[in-house]
Amino acid sequence: MSGLLEGKSALVTGGGSGIGRATALAFAREGAWVAVADQTIEAAQKTVAEIEARDGKAVAIACDVTDDDAVKAMVAAAVDAFGGLDCAFNNAGISPFNVNAHGQKIGDIAPEAWARIIDVNLTGVWRCLRHEVAQMRTQGGGVIVNTASILGLVGSPTSSAYVASKHGVVGLTKTAAVDHAEENIRVNAVCPGYIETPMTEETMRRRGGRIMARVPMQRMGKPEEIAEAVIWLCSERASFVTGVAWAVDGGYTAI
Ligand code: NAD
Repeated sequence: MSGLLEGKSALVTGGGSGIGRATALAFAREGAWVAVADQTIEAAQKTVAEIEARDGKAVAIACDVTDDDAVKAMVAAAVDAFGGLDCAFNNAGISPFNVNAHGQKIGDIAPEAWARIIDVNLTGVWRCLRHEVAQMRTQGGGVIVNTASILGLVGSPTSSAYVASKHGVVGLTKTAAVDHAEENIRVNAVCPGYIETPMTEETMRRRGGRIMARVPMQRMGKPEEIAEAVIWLCSERASFVTGVAWAVDGGYTAI
């Protein structure tokens, strides 16, 4: 049986951990060749080794999405490896914990922490988009999925920079979809709820009980459950879907 993305090439940022890793594995399972990019090359290489162990084809690329030259080189390396770029998953991101801004209200967050979260989570997606779109134009089309969050759809206490960055990703996704619809480039976002990855470990330790009380399905999601949405959005089955911000959240944003 052939996969949903047989013979396609795919790029995943933040592919060394969590949602990015699970999605890279799912791309490979569906028959795609995968360029696994991460700021930590060892993490990307580990995902590549997992794909190769399952007879998939993948390459690891070192890329910090805050560095425009590195992002340009990442897209070029993926195209070099696979001859084109059919699918891109712009997923690399950080949380307030990464910049010691956890639990801080708007007046307390340091300007450097604010700037760093916006730079990685929002401007990082824009950098990826601009180089991916440039490539996809030359080949007559492609599909892009950006990782936003439920916090791109609703607010949350003491998370202003993260919430702003993810609302920005939703707006950027819609505009990119409209800008490039006529060029056969679809652009969508996934909005994960609380997912079991290294990013949420500390949050869950501190206030997991309170968060789970708000989730209708009463559990965290698995990275693989986000990967399935990304695969579908990248496939021909979603051929008329562009500009959506799709919540995959156990019902969190439904109430
Ligand atoms: P994770 O920490 O497990 O993985 C994030 C990956 O991104 C890591 O491999 C890290 O090295 C990489 N990364 C971080 N900064 C980078 C940079 N500047 N350049 C390149 N790579 C970088 O986290 P995750 O939970 O898998 O998160 C993936 C995405 O999903 C993020 O955008 C996050 O905001 C989003 N998200 C996660 C959740 C959740 O509950 N886990 C919920 C909503 C949205």
